[in-house]
Amino acid sequence: MQIRIADCPPEGLHMEDRLDPGSLKDLAALQESERCLFKGPLSVALTVTPTAEMFAVEGRIRGEVTLACSRCLAPAECPIKISFKLTFSRGIPGDEPDAPSETRQLQSEEMGVVLFEGDEIDFRNVIQEQVIMAIPMRPLCREDCQGLCPRCGADLNHETCDCQKKEVDPRLAVLKKFKFDA
Ligand SMILES: [Zn+2]
Ligand SMILES: [Zn+2]
Repeated sequence: MQIRIADCPPEGLHMEDRLDPGSLKDLAALQESERCLFKGPLSVALTVTPTAEMFAVEGRIRGEVTLACSRCLAPAECPIKISFKLTFSRGIPGDEPDAPSETRQLQSEEMGVVLFEGDEIDFRNVIQEQVIMAIPMRPLCREDCQGLCPRCGADLNHETCDCQKKEVDPRLAVLKKFKFDA
């Protein structure tokens, strides 16, 4: 997903595409780590509107990933639904063209501006950044997942174990002791 600046009409343009996550470097690396599997392509819709020297971009990304449930490790299907608004610019207002590129990068991030060079804007980096930020940190296979028993590792969604029963409430233990002594 990229545009040639010269092809962007004054009224802006809208584009939609389906992107293979494997074709985006960082997402491909995530898939290879096997912690995150994309189900099919990502649907991406972008609206690009030129404003003075900048381009306002509104984007929507839809997809689905399979992750390991953070409680029981079973596959967790997680929808990806992203809406974002960014401004692409060759420079930032009050920018010093001679400033080191790291400084310019920091300044632009603070202002929510994505810098680009040349005659084309490539949206793929932004798309994969947005997807990575949207991947849940603590996915669940279902809202009420019971998780694994911390003692024996039994999957409490499918079986029960005796760990809870064996564990005697310390307050009860004290009572028992009293009874014994009496
Ligand atoms: Zn689970
Ligand atoms: Zn157990």
